[in-house]
Amino acid sequence: MASRAAGTYPPVPEPLAHPVVDTHTHLDICTGVRLPLGAGEPEPEVRPDEDEEFPSLDFFFDTAQSAGVQRIVQIGCDLPAARWTTELVTQQSQQGRQWMLGGVALHPNEAPRLAERGMLDDALTEIESLVASTDRMRVVGETGLDYFRTGEDGVAEQQRAFRAHIEMAKRTGKALQIHDREAHADVLRILREEGAPEVTIFHCYSGDEAMARECADAGYYMSFAGNLTFKNADELRRAAAAAPLDRLLTETDAPFLTPHPHRGKPGGPYLAAVTARKLAEVRGMSEEDLCAAVWKNAETALGSWD
Ligand SMILES: [Zn+2]
Repeated sequence: MASRAAGTYPPVPEPLAHPVVDTHTHLDICTGVRLPLGAGEPEPEVRPDEDEEFPSLDFFFDTAQSAGVQRIVQIGCDLPAARWTTELVTQQSQQGRQWMLGGVALHPNEAPRLAERGMLDDALTEIESLVASTDRMRVVGETGLDYFRTGEDGVAEQQRAFRAHIEMAKRTGKALQIHDREAHADVLRILREEGAPEVTIFHCYSGDEAMARECADAGYYMSFAGNLTFKNADELRRAAAAAPLDRLLTETDAPFLTPHPHRGKPGGPYLAAVTARKLAEVRGMSEEDLCAAVWKNAETALGSWD
């Protein structure tokens, strides 16, 4: 039997000098409750086998705590994952583990598939009721545009779903987390046309330095994931250096985007520590100062975890 037991994961880094937040992770996929969306996310090179064992939620909790990733935002981006997320964040809070907030949406690659079956509007209604159902839910996301995975025939429904999520975030007073893959110009345009929610976050920021300045002018947050550490990511590192300190966030998008030198392996929220260290290096800051700043930014953007 194939196994993703703890030993196959990248080692847990030394604890950070100051804690950070993983503002975007998929524990439903990390723990094997859900398989990755058919075309929803960058796919890990390690694909889960049918009878594969996954680590437990406790593995991800313990490793995150010991690396200094003390808080996370769990993201469910199709209906089953959204229902699971809402239950999990409520349950963790009731158990006194105040480490988790949640977010739900219909992923930009999921929306056209639902539309094709005539299910998009009902699904959006359910997403809104889930996100409004508890104060532990703080994010509408991930939503946005993905021109890499969805072909031209899906674009219209994808844009319609993105607009609907923007309105939903404003109605419910939650933050908007954006998935933008090879669609920078249209994402920025639609945000302008609709009027962006008060807190708008580019999850797994992937733009260049010029776009970082545009985001900064609009007051958008830029959340950096493990791809910041990839060898070919000089342009992304320049963007991370140019963004204003008070707009920066850290995340993993786990189990995806595992940082260098473990790229391609499945990861967990604890690896936000690696990205935070790289962010400090890129900005020429001490680890402690950088982590303290992004920790505070996460609270400013999303509110208190307590
Ligand atoms: Zn994601």
